[in-house]
Amino acid sequence: MDQRKDNFDVLVVDDDAVTRAQLRFLLLRNGYDVTIASSGEEGWDMLQQRHFPIVITDWSMPGMNGPDLCRLVRENLDDEYLYMILLTGMTEKQQVAKGLEAGADDYITKPFDSGELLARLRVGRRILSLQRSMRETQLELHEMAHQDGLTKVMNRRAIDGHLSDAIARLARATHPSTVALLDIDFFKRVNDTYGHQAGDAVLQEVAARIRDILRKTDKIGRYGGEEFIAILESADVDDAAEVAERIRMAVQELPIEHGGHEISVTISIGLCEAPAGYSGSSALVVERADAALYEAKRGGRNQVVLGSLEPESHADEPLLKAAGAERLTADLAR
Ligand code: GH3
Ligand code: MG
Ligand code: MG
Repeated sequence: MDQRKDNFDVLVVDDDAVTRAQLRFLLLRNGYDVTIASSGEEGWDMLQQRHFPIVITDWSMPGMNGPDLCRLVRENLDDEYLYMILLTGMTEKQQVAKGLEAGADDYITKPFDSGELLARLRVGRRILSLQRSMRETQLELHEMAHQDGLTKVMNRRAIDGHLSDAIARLARATHPSTVALLDIDFFKRVNDTYGHQAGDAVLQEVAARIRDILRKTDKIGRYGGEEFIAILESADVDDAAEVAERIRMAVQELPIEHGGHEISVTISIGLCEAPAGYSGSSALVVERADAALYEAKRGGRNQVVLGSLEPESHADEPLLKAAGAERLTADLAR
C-alpha cells in the first residue's frame, strides 16, 4: 500500500552542500526521487510549482529557515498532505518542540544515521498512504452526497445550496447573476420509443453538453427527472442567453447514439436574471425562470425564453407578458 511511486518523491532543502550530497546519495540508492533546493526560499518556490509528498528540510539556513518553511507550507498548501522532516543540529535540539509546532511532522538530528532516516521516511510514507486513502474515502462520500449518480452533475440538494449562496452574494455584488432552467423536450417519447436505458444515455449526454459549454465557475445540477438548473454567476440575462442558445444548439445539432439508434432531442431553456443588490429569495428567481421555461414549452419548445423579476403588472394577460418574458430573437443563434 505504501509502495506507490508518488510517495517516493522527496524535496531536500539544505544550505549545506555536503549534507545535500549525502542525502541525495542515500535517497537515490533507496529508490527515492530527489529534488534539491539550497535555500528555504528556493524550496518554497519549488513547492508552489508542484507537489512533493515528502520534504526534508534543514533547520538553520540564512533567510527562510526550516520552521519558517514548515509554517508557510501549513498555512498555504493544504490540497494534499506534505510530510515534513526537520534536520536539526545539536543547537536546535532543545527547541525542537517549536519546529513541530511550526508544522514539521518529525525531526532527525545531524549528523544523521542512515538507517534511522530511512526508517523515519517509511513512517512518513505509511502516514501519507493512510492520509491518501482517508482523503479518497472522503471524496467518495462527498460525491455520493452531492452528485447525481447518473449524470454526474450536482444533485438537487447540492445545487440548491449553491443557488441560495449565489443569490445571497448578490446583496453585495456589482454584477447580476442569472439562473437557467433547462428541460429536455418530449423526453418521455425517448423512453417510450427507445427504452429507459436509452433515456438514461440521453440524460448523461445532454448533461455533458451543458457542462462543456458552461464556464468553470458556473454551477449545474439536476433539478428533476429531465430538468437541469444552472447558475451563471456574474452573468446578466443577455450573456446567459448567448450561453443558453449555444447549449440549445449543442443539444439539437448532434443526435445521441445509443444501441444502434441515433436519437435526436432538443431542449427548452428559461432564464431569469437577479440584479446586483438583490435581497429577495432564490425561490422567486427560480419561479420566474420556470415561468420562462413554461413559455418556451408553450411557444413550441427548442427555444430560449428570457424571464424577469419585474412585478407582474398585467396579471390578467398571458404569462408571456406577466412574467416579463420575451422570446429570444433568432439572430442570437450562431
Ligand atoms: P416536455 O417537452 O413538456 O418537457 O415533455 P417531457 O416528455 O420531456 O416531460 P414529462 O415531464 O412528461 O416526462 C418526463 C419523463 O422523464 C418522464 C420520466 O419517466 C422521465 N424520466 C425522469 N427521470 C428519468 C431518468 O432518470 N431516466 C429516464 N430514462 N427517464 C427519466
Ligand atoms: Mg544549515
Ligand atoms: Mg421535458
